[in-house]
Amino acid sequence: APEVVTIGETLASLRASGDLRVATPVSLSIAGAESNVAIGLARLGHAVRWAGVVGDDAFGRLITRTLRGEGVQTSSRTIASPTGMIVFTARPPTAITVDYHRRASAGSALDLADVEAAMADPPRILHLTGITPALSPSALAAVRAAIDRASEQGVQVCLDVNYRSRLWSRAEARATIAPLAARADLIIASDDELGLAVDVPSTDPRTGIDTLLGHATAVIVKRGSHGAAAYTRAGEVQVDAVAVSAIDPVGAGDAFVAGFLSGTLDGLPLVECMQRGALLGAFAVASIGDWEGLPLRTDLGRLDEEGVIR
Ligand code: ATP
Repeated sequence: APEVVTIGETLASLRASGDLRVATPVSLSIAGAESNVAIGLARLGHAVRWAGVVGDDAFGRLITRTLRGEGVQTSSRTIASPTGMIVFTARPPTAITVDYHRRASAGSALDLADVEAAMADPPRILHLTGITPALSPSALAAVRAAIDRASEQGVQVCLDVNYRSRLWSRAEARATIAPLAARADLIIASDDELGLAVDVPSTDPRTGIDTLLGHATAVIVKRGSHGAAAYTRAGEVQVDAVAVSAIDPVGAGDAFVAGFLSGTLDGLPLVECMQRGALLGAFAVASIGDWEGLPLRTDLGRLDEEGVIR
């Protein structure tokens, strides 16, 4: 049985080196918050399964081949709809714009049957994000069913709020995500997403955290280059970011989740789980791509004091 199951949409990811309107070299990869976490965990040697729906096209095959090549077990269904895409366009020197082509995508056809297949052998942890419930009514039903299955099976639920403004408004996101967060054991959010995890947003973030700690064992707040904090009923643990020369911020959050969950699976104390999260976040920002730069277990010690990966 896998230690972790993640369920979500993975997209073909196109990274343009210049202005797409006049044609420019593009590099192709895959991207998806849940599969990024799965790859991070697999690279650290954990047994992890990703479940999702892909199109019957080259991008769909790229997704399953890449995940399998990374050692992720896949529970993927293939349908006639096209695999969705995310397109990153560099606007030099540093700005990156993002376009999605995911409406009516294969990945958004996720449904209850996919959850049954994914959870057939119960894992220790089920990892979900607040992206999936925004994709379609069937994907929302799938997320709810996955949490139901996890609670029947005694599986811990980890939810990363992961608000995507292209998919829905903050008010819509809160109305859907807060009830899901109310059933999660571990809630992960960035500073500005914390208010989406609770029904009644408060100007004091501590109120939201206390509400969530009524049922959750930990609430983790990611703060980019300022590091991250974990809140539990026993108190609070802060970690600094690991100094690194950042070249691509995309994927840091997913990398952090992979590192944190890896520490949890290894039975490490909370502070060490947070440190492993921060270390993986640093690896992610130090390399181009969402997940390509994530470390193998033997690479964990390779980020030196100067922030260089050797
Ligand atoms: P994204 O959505 O871009 O993946 P996020 O907002 O979910 O990111 P962040 O808070 O940006 O997540 O990053 C997660 C973790 O990665 C941080 O808590 C930090 O430890 C690490 N990290 C992020 N940015 C940097 C950076 N510039 N240098 C070093 N570590 C970083």
